[in-house]
Amino acid sequence: MKSFNKVGIKWRLFGYFVFFVAVILSLLWIFQTVLLDRFYKSIKFRSVETSAQAISRNIDNEDLDSLVARIAQSSEVCISIYSSGGELLSSADILPDCVIHKMPSENISRIYERTKENGGERIERFSREGFRNDRYNSGKFIGRVPPPDIGMLESIIYTRIVTAADGSERMIMLNTTISPVSATVETLRIQLIYITVILLILSLLIAFLISKRIAKPIIKINASAKELARGNYAVYFDEKGYREISELGSTLNFAAHELSTVENLRRELIANISHDLRTPLTLIAGYGEAMRDIPGENTPENVQIIIDEANHLSALVSDMLDLSKLQSGAGALKKERFCLTESVRSILKRYQKLIDQEGYSIRFINDGEAFVLADEIKISQVLYNLINNAVNYTGEDKSVIVREEISGGFVRIEVIDTGDGIDEKQLPYIWDRYYKVDKIHKRAAVGSGLGLSIVKSILELHGAKYGVLSTKGQGSVFWFALPVEEDPEI
Ligand code: ADP
Repeated sequence: MKSFNKVGIKWRLFGYFVFFVAVILSLLWIFQTVLLDRFYKSIKFRSVETSAQAISRNIDNEDLDSLVARIAQSSEVCISIYSSGGELLSSADILPDCVIHKMPSENISRIYERTKENGGERIERFSREGFRNDRYNSGKFIGRVPPPDIGMLESIIYTRIVTAADGSERMIMLNTTISPVSATVETLRIQLIYITVILLILSLLIAFLISKRIAKPIIKINASAKELARGNYAVYFDEKGYREISELGSTLNFAAHELSTVENLRRELIANISHDLRTPLTLIAGYGEAMRDIPGENTPENVQIIIDEANHLSALVSDMLDLSKLQSGAGALKKERFCLTESVRSILKRYQKLIDQEGYSIRFINDGEAFVLADEIKISQVLYNLINNAVNYTGEDKSVIVREEISGGFVRIEVIDTGDGIDEKQLPYIWDRYYKVDKIHKRAAVGSGLGLSIVKSILELHGAKYGVLSTKGQGSVFWFALPVEEDPEI
């Protein structure tokens, strides 16, 4: 057997898992370390901006002082509001390193001027040591963001000029400190190294556990499949585990069952064929030898036996050929319009000898002439097989009825006998090749065991409906139905 040098499910799953963990960790690294500073600053800027907006909306509010105090606390900003004349109208000083509350009034008026020049809004950033400023206009930085410097405190002064209800101008001034994130980044970096190691070990463990759980039943099923391939049809495939695997298991169990049925049938078939062929051959050889060696045995009766047995053999072989031709699809149907009623009548004529000499009663009940579009020779074969079976298996009264009924656009033929009937459990199998209810071969009921398989194949080729109704002890009704055609002579 071929052995595959492919990566097993275990390692492949592990690979995917490690890849997944690596992606998550890289994202964490990027967000927590590289982008943390940028995130923190943009959040700070946004909070300063929204605080300024809230104040400007409420600039005429009587309760401005308490609002300013509240905003200052929640956003961690220092706030002062000046009139255009430089008078301090409201203020909240909550940060220890606030720069606006200690600012001389000249600076305040300078800032006022610059804010006006800048269109009423201005942002100024500087480090405590007095680094260069970065201009901020309508929400966007112009110029370079200074590189983060450990231990250096960055401060923002945001100013906005608004007009109050009485027409006078006010300047809202906010100040906040951006503490450097470098220390935090460093801490996170160390933590992330630990997390990476722990996650890698964990992912390795989990990947192994999961892959083992998936791979184990597959390995088991594979072993059973090898058994099956060696011809052990009694093998059982585990149906436990994940849904897909359990489905695979049950499909394989079904396949194993089917294979064993086919194998049993094959064995039975060989046994049947050899039995069926051997019996007449032994008889022919036996009678032949007797006639050659024993004087007086060369009688017409013995010759007749040899002829009968030879005929039986030839019927058996032609049945086998018929069936294999039908089942291989060779010899397509030669459909033509013909009178089915007439076909039944002509077949029944062949039984005249049985009726006259052996006391059989074969009745034909019909209600008109039915035409069908079908292969006449093959349909005659169906009728012949069904009537033959009925004659062979009918009861003591030796009566058989063939009924033809036209209704609903169909002609239905029923072949009715009064025999022992067929056990309900056997019914589905009687159409199988070489299936005989009575496994012991009775010479009286000569049959190849192929008759009903031929019937079934022909009717299925015609797309006809067919079936059997039978009660044990009460006889059987074999039937089929074909669509009726118009009478060509009308
Ligand atoms: P066979 O040549 O043995 O009759 P068939 O294929 O025609 O083979 O029939 C298969 C089996 O079905 C028969 O062996 C018999 O046991 C059963 N069977 C067929 N027709 C009848 C019937 N009319 N009554 C009872 N049993 C029947």
